[in-house]
Amino acid sequence: MVQAEHDVALQDTDRLEGRAALVNNVKAAVALAGAVRSTLGPRGLDKMLVSPDGSSLVTNDGVTVIETAKVEHPTARLLISASSSQDKAARDGTTTTVVLTAELLQNSLELVRMGVHPSTIINGFLMSEREAVIELERISREAESAEEVKSVISTTMAGKIGKSLASHITNIAYDAAKVLSDEDGGDDLERLRVKRLEVSGGSTTDSYLVNGLVIAKTRVDISTPISSEGGLIAIIDGGLENAKLEMDAEIEVSSPGILKGFHDRSIAKLRKCVDRLSSLGVDLLIVREGISDEAIPMLTEAGITCYRRFERDDLERLSKITGTRMIRDPNRISERDLGAFTGRSEEIIAGVTHTRIEGSEGGALTVIIRGTTPQIREEAIRAFDDAMGVSFRMERDPRVIPGGGAIQTHLARHLRSFALGNPGREQLAIEGYAAALEVVPRTLAENAGLDPIDVVLDLSAAQSSDTENGAWIGLNAFTGDRTRMDQLGILDPLFVTTHSISGSTEAAISVLRINDVLWAKQDPTAPDWKEGEDQED
Ligand code: ADP
Ligand code: MG
Repeated sequence: MVQAEHDVALQDTDRLEGRAALVNNVKAAVALAGAVRSTLGPRGLDKMLVSPDGSSLVTNDGVTVIETAKVEHPTARLLISASSSQDKAARDGTTTTVVLTAELLQNSLELVRMGVHPSTIINGFLMSEREAVIELERISREAESAEEVKSVISTTMAGKIGKSLASHITNIAYDAAKVLSDEDGGDDLERLRVKRLEVSGGSTTDSYLVNGLVIAKTRVDISTPISSEGGLIAIIDGGLENAKLEMDAEIEVSSPGILKGFHDRSIAKLRKCVDRLSSLGVDLLIVREGISDEAIPMLTEAGITCYRRFERDDLERLSKITGTRMIRDPNRISERDLGAFTGRSEEIIAGVTHTRIEGSEGGALTVIIRGTTPQIREEAIRAFDDAMGVSFRMERDPRVIPGGGAIQTHLARHLRSFALGNPGREQLAIEGYAAALEVVPRTLAENAGLDPIDVVLDLSAAQSSDTENGAWIGLNAFTGDRTRMDQLGILDPLFVTTHSISGSTEAAISVLRINDVLWAKQDPTAPDWKEGEDQED
């Protein structure tokens, strides 16, 4: 009776409780993982994504697939954010994260059906994660040579692009990471400092790395020098234009001299501004917006070369590499705002004039991505993003672990024996966790057209018969062999796998904590546009 009264309050809500809620959430997670699992590994297949306007994209990248898909189920969205966070933090391992989370959830559902309480499962999962991370670190070792680092970078691109392009991009990303290696900054430093510039035409293997910032621009006045050995630079985050009338200002033109007076005053202002820049010794002036026609000859006369209409991102990079403070109002510029550039030159790339500027404050780089169509270039940029992200992070943490399902097979074996030391029901959860990790070798095998059960059993047997280096035996997806991954160069960075295991555990646990799902009921007579209209209010 009391319950019924309470339920009145929820009459406009669809409610899923307890086991039904879990079943529904697990279904959503498994469905999402199902959409990406066939892309996992070097033999994964591509997906074609078609947007509402009919444009299409073919990709083998898990995070691209799910970020593009229109997914509404809240649990699926939770998995998507776990994979996006993996992408942000580690740049790689996104598909693995989604597939592993779904597998952890599926195994939890089995346990719940056997009568294990979700909070016991959560405990067991947390114990497993802790143990797995310790074991991962124990197995890992530092990359031994440049070749080995490069093979790690190449592994992240396996199956996504052709071999020759992958090795080309690997070299670019490796060199770029070296340049950035002694710079301070967070994980986003590589995005900030390395500009991706698309130039149409040529083959993707013609892509190359340039020291400095390259922009598809030419100097405003071509009578100023085409290149420079360096000097002082000022950056204006605004324009250098004639004073404009305010929107609602009016001037009463009672005699012909009034307008001219207004014009003269604005020219005088520009003159003052240029004089100021000149007295500060500025050689190069970069302006985000426009530069008025009247100011151009004044600047040229003062020996200042200028560029206008810069993108914000480029301004920021330039400000970083030259140590220049961006200033909004050119009249307020002072010596402290100026920076130093160490070189400027213009060159023609694919028929378009480009300018390269180098700074005194260290590494800014531009990678010029060539390719005949925008799709080809985008695919190459995505591959480069992964390679760059991984090579940059490898500079900071060069520890590697074996790929090809080796590490997951090892962790599963390790956790199974760890489980035996736990007498409580958590033991079952740890075993479920161990079995979930095997989804990685299983899926790699499936995608390579091999029998997943045989592969997992074989790997496990091969690993236990080699007491010294067993953990390094994995699956070569191209030949089907079970061999030493370090000898083949199939290596993953430690941070990718650690982050993926922690992220998956965290996502699975947050789904397991949900005991009740309340869905606001949609009024069946409400037209679809009602929702959008409400939001606009
Ligand atoms: P993710 O988005 O999770 O990075 P990928 O499609 O990049 O997914 O696949 C990564 C997995 O593929 C890793 O487990 C890696 O060890 C494995 N892998 C890469 N190259 C090979 C290979 N030649 N043989 C077997 N496994 C490989
Ligand atoms: Mg990858």
